[in-house]
Amino acid sequence: MTIVYQIGHSLYLNITNRCPNQCGFCVRYKTDSIQGYDLTLAAEPSVKEILEAIGNPARFREIVFCGYGEPLVRLAEVIAVSKFLKGKNIPVRVNTNGQGNLIHQRNIIPEIAPYISTISVSLNAENEDVYNQICQPSFGPGTYQKVKEFILACKPYIANIIVTAVAVPQVNIKTIQQIVEQELGVRFKLRHNDDIVQENSYGHK
Ligand code: SF4
Repeated sequence: MTIVYQIGHSLYLNITNRCPNQCGFCVRYKTDSIQGYDLTLAAEPSVKEILEAIGNPARFREIVFCGYGEPLVRLAEVIAVSKFLKGKNIPVRVNTNGQGNLIHQRNIIPEIAPYISTISVSLNAENEDVYNQICQPSFGPGTYQKVKEFILACKPYIANIIVTAVAVPQVNIKTIQQIVEQELGVRFKLRHNDDIVQENSYGHK
């Protein structure tokens, strides 16, 4: 069971396998391990276990909540660990599907923003139909719009916002990029399927 794994100079945290989406490209449906790390969790790690697994955070340029699942499912743990890391001046990135406010039924952004430097949100589609087709959100109709609202709601609080899409045949990357840059006014990052397997554990990055 792997709670942390290193890629380059970053340390990735794998704190849950739960996620309200079922994206067709998600690595959790393809393999149990990335670069030899088994990311299937027998039990979700406590804050103490996560901090012990991190060890000395000063060894890394950045610490990234990622994993096989949606880290904001475990909001209290994300806040506690990020707060500790912020106290050590270690940059923290949260890779998310942008459904944190749906999961918790409130605006959680002010709660996490003081402790994180970057948020990376996977939008993945140019409209709701395509999103539903490729991400199969358990929150159902309206989820795509809620993800866009989450991204906009981050803007007053978080300086670095990256919105991503995976290059799969069902999506129009050019249109997604326009939505991200012109409508939402944040940075777009294209991800390739191979990146997910080789650089990271799944579709958020
Ligand atoms: S790619 Fe991310 S959002 Fe999609 S199912 Fe996997 S963990 Fe969830």
